[in-house]
Amino acid sequence: MRILLNVQFLEGRDSWTWKPDGCKFTVAAVRDFIQSNSDDIENGWKFWNKWVPPKVNLFTWRADMGRIPVKDQLAKRGVMVDCLNCCRCGEGIESVDHLLCGCWMSKAIWCEVLAWVKLPVNVEFETPINALEFVEGMKGSSLWKQVINLIFQATMWHIWKTRNDKVFSSRQVSDNLVLDEIKSDAFLW
Ligand SMILES: [Zn+2]
Repeated sequence: MRILLNVQFLEGRDSWTWKPDGCKFTVAAVRDFIQSNSDDIENGWKFWNKWVPPKVNLFTWRADMGRIPVKDQLAKRGVMVDCLNCCRCGEGIESVDHLLCGCWMSKAIWCEVLAWVKLPVNVEFETPINALEFVEGMKGSSLWKQVINLIFQATMWHIWKTRNDKVFSSRQVSDNLVLDEIKSDAFLW
């Protein structure tokens, strides 16, 4: 009510405004904004991978900072959330680390991905950055590390997409399909 007291109604239709340039909100405006700022991010975030699409690099970078809209982050920002439990397993609190790494459903996907790239399948990651640091710390050429970084970013991106499919479209995607999509994006990128 306190917030609404300061609201003034104006004539005309409501519309979205895109703050960076004060113009009408469009997806293209957001894309231009991201691309025009990606050099700064590229210099500032050590895991930026030029083979990975900017939107996915940005997603992983935001996950690293805990800034993707999972339930516990939404609740911290005052958004009403019915229940904090993970949308996928229904057990743990849905935090960035739980959703992308700790959730048993995500661990099953990680296990398949690790087997695919011939890394030990018993490796477990606690946080998204933990996974990328693991790659950095391994023996191997920088080219190989760049490929594995790409595959790991694709894995987290698809876990996130699968979660959103379930939340927003009530679509349950099988692990096999997620793995196929990870492989297909990895080859494409
Ligand atoms: Zn879970």
